[in-house]
Amino acid sequence: MIRHQGDLVDSTDSHSPDDVVRLSSVSRTYGNERNKVVALDQVSIGFSRRTFTAVMGPSGSGKSTMLQCAAGLDRPTSGSVTLDGQDLGALDERALTELRRERIGFIFQAFNLLPALTVSDNVALPIRLAGRKPDRDRIAEALHQVGLGDLADRRPAELSGGQQQRVAVARALVTQPAVIFGDEPTGALDTRTAREILHLLRSAVHEGGQTAIMVTHDPVAASYADRVLFLVDGRISHELRGAGPEQIAEQMTQLGARAGQVTR
Ligand code: ADP
Repeated sequence: MIRHQGDLVDSTDSHSPDDVVRLSSVSRTYGNERNKVVALDQVSIGFSRRTFTAVMGPSGSGKSTMLQCAAGLDRPTSGSVTLDGQDLGALDERALTELRRERIGFIFQAFNLLPALTVSDNVALPIRLAGRKPDRDRIAEALHQVGLGDLADRRPAELSGGQQQRVAVARALVTQPAVIFGDEPTGALDTRTAREILHLLRSAVHEGGQTAIMVTHDPVAASYADRVLFLVDGRISHELRGAGPEQIAEQMTQLGARAGQVTR
């Protein structure tokens, strides 16, 4: 099938053997039979290597739940998640924690750096937590990659918000994980700084061969991704590839209207 820029595509055809993360009929419900909330409803989707995907949708549409299930931070009520060839449902908590440390990088809106540690010790943390001795050259390389080679000995409080998020990107990249998850990674940054972080993520994907999945509310941020998934009421309603900010914003407006009609 030939895909044109900005085409609407059917997300059900997107499974491939090259998927780094794959959700198969994943449902996640909360509450009991009398007041059940279906946060995710039979979602099947694949994320292949060297791709950058943005996840959008109205508030309450299931974005966080999807990210948490895909990252092994939450377990689906039914269905399965495969990460880097491993069925997460087959792992106990300890093995799951280990897999997260080794194979997943996270970037959060609030940076989540440890204030008492230097920049380089923050970046080294995932390696230490995995019980290995950090390789100084690898830490320096990760800091260089995000343009912070000169600030290795500073503490987070001595850095701007954008610099702190660069540290978080270096920390996410340092273990060379199979996939990087971002939960509104540019939500706390000004436009220019946000753009710098998005460029870093793009180059980690297209030059570094990473796979990135990012939840965002911002159509401009989403336009940096290769494709944008739109969630509505716990389902992927469709996806856009190669879309610009205007097309993404227009789609969000339409979805907001639809979601509003459903709940009213
Ligand atoms: P989004 O990230 O798109 O805002 P969420 O994944 O946070 O959506 O939530 C999807 C739905 O699941 C919402 O209706 C929300 O209220 C519900 N939900 C999420 N987490 C919980 C929870 N821990 N307990 C009960 N309901 C929850």
